[in-house]
Amino acid sequence: MSFRTFLKSLENRGDLIKVNERISPKFEIAYVMSRLADGPALIFESVEGFKNEVAGNVVSTRRRVYAALNVSNSALYKTMIEAYRDPVYPKIVDDGPVMENVREPNLLEIPALTHYERDAGPYITAAVVAARSLDGRIENVSIHRLLVLDKNHLAIRLVPRHLHKLWETAKNEGYDLDVGIAIGVHPAVMLAAASSPPFGVSEFGIANKLLKGNLKLLKCKSVEAYVPYDAELVLEGKILRDKEVPEGPLVDMTGTYDVQRMQPVIEVTRIMHRNNYIYQALLPGGPEHRLLMGLPREVAIYESVSKVVPTVKAVNLSEGGCGWLHAVISIEKQTDGDAKNAILAAFAAHGSLKHVIVVDSDIDVYEPKSVEWALATRFQADEDLIIIRNVRGSTLDPSADQQSGLTTKLGVDATMPLSKPKGGFEKAQIPPTERAEKIIESLKQSS
Ligand code: MN
Repeated sequence: MSFRTFLKSLENRGDLIKVNERISPKFEIAYVMSRLADGPALIFESVEGFKNEVAGNVVSTRRRVYAALNVSNSALYKTMIEAYRDPVYPKIVDDGPVMENVREPNLLEIPALTHYERDAGPYITAAVVAARSLDGRIENVSIHRLLVLDKNHLAIRLVPRHLHKLWETAKNEGYDLDVGIAIGVHPAVMLAAASSPPFGVSEFGIANKLLKGNLKLLKCKSVEAYVPYDAELVLEGKILRDKEVPEGPLVDMTGTYDVQRMQPVIEVTRIMHRNNYIYQALLPGGPEHRLLMGLPREVAIYESVSKVVPTVKAVNLSEGGCGWLHAVISIEKQTDGDAKNAILAAFAAHGSLKHVIVVDSDIDVYEPKSVEWALATRFQADEDLIIIRNVRGSTLDPSADQQSGLTTKLGVDATMPLSKPKGGFEKAQIPPTERAEKIIESLKQSS
C-alpha cells in the first residue's frame, strides 16, 4: 500500500514504462510527461545530474485512479463519500522504511523538475504537507507547490485555506509552524490531501479509510509533525513566521501562468528517505494535476446534486474545462425543473465551478461529441440557460476578475423536455446481427 508497491502493481499489469535514456529534469522530463499523459506511468531511470529515479504520470488517467483505490468507476464516489463521513485515524508507529536514511538537508540533490518556459525555477509539485495546531489537536494535510530556493529553503504557496490558517495562528502566537512534507506516497493519500473536509478533520483519516486501515504514520524527529511511514522521501521543517519571498510564476490547473506573489518560506531541518528513493514528479496543469484536484470536487457535486435529483448517473469535471471549471452531469430526470435544480446544487458544491451542462443519462459525460450532440438536439437557449452575474468563482480563470474573484456563471439544461414525445430525441439504432459483427471483424483484420 505504498507508492512503491503501487508502481510495482502497475508494472506487473504492463501499465508502467521505464525510460533508461539520459534525460534532463529541466523541461525534458516535463515535456515527455505532457506528451505521454494518456499512456502508461513512467519511470525515468537516468536523470542528468541526479542519482535518484523520477516517476511521472503515476495517476494521469482515471483508470489508474480507480486501480489505486481498487474500485470501479461507479463505486468511486460512494467509496470516497464513505471515507469523508467516517474517517479512521491511522496507527502511529516508531519506525518505517522512510527512516532507512536520515540526514542533513540538501534540497539541491532532489531531482525537482523545471516544468514550463517561464516557471520561476525547479518546483516540488507532489508534496503532501502535514501540520498540527500548537496544542496538537488539529491536523491538516494538503498538497502545496514548493519552489526550491537553496540547500535548505523552500517557498510555499499558501492559499488562504486550512494550512494557511494553522500557520497564521502559530505566527500570531509567535511561533513557526512545524511541517512534515512527504513525497512519493500512495495515490489514496494524494487524493485525500487534495480534498477539503471541514477544518479539524485530518485528511490522513480519510486516506487511511480509502486504504482500508493500512496507512501508518510516524512522527518526524526534528519537528512536531506526522508523515506516512513508507513515503519515499520526507522533508522536516518549519514554515517561518517572519519571512516571505517572491513565489511564482508557475503554471496552474488552467495551463496558464499563475502570477508571482510574496509567500512564506520553509526552513528544512532534516531529510529522511528510503534507500534509492523514487522522486515523484507531477506536471502542473497536466491531466494528473486536474484529476487529483477535480475528483474530490466531483464527489462533492455528486453528493449535492443527489439531494435535489433522485438519480445522478455521472459527473465529469472535464479535461477541457481544466478539471476544475466545467462540469457535465448526467441525471435521470423526473420533472422538467430537475436539471435547473441540479445546476444550482452543482454551483453550491464547488465554488470555483463556472459552466455546468446537465444531460440525460443516455449521454456519455466523458465523451465531448456526445455532450455536444445533446446541446445540438435538446437545448433551447431562451429557456434552458441560467446566467448568474458577479458571483464568486476561481481566481485561476484569466477571464474572471482575478483580484475580486468575481465571475459570471452559466448553467445549461441539455436534457430532453418531458412535454414533448421522447421518441423524437432518442438516438436512432441499427439492429446488429451476429453475421454483421463477424463481417466487421474480418474487415478490420484484413485492413
Ligand atoms: Mn483540511
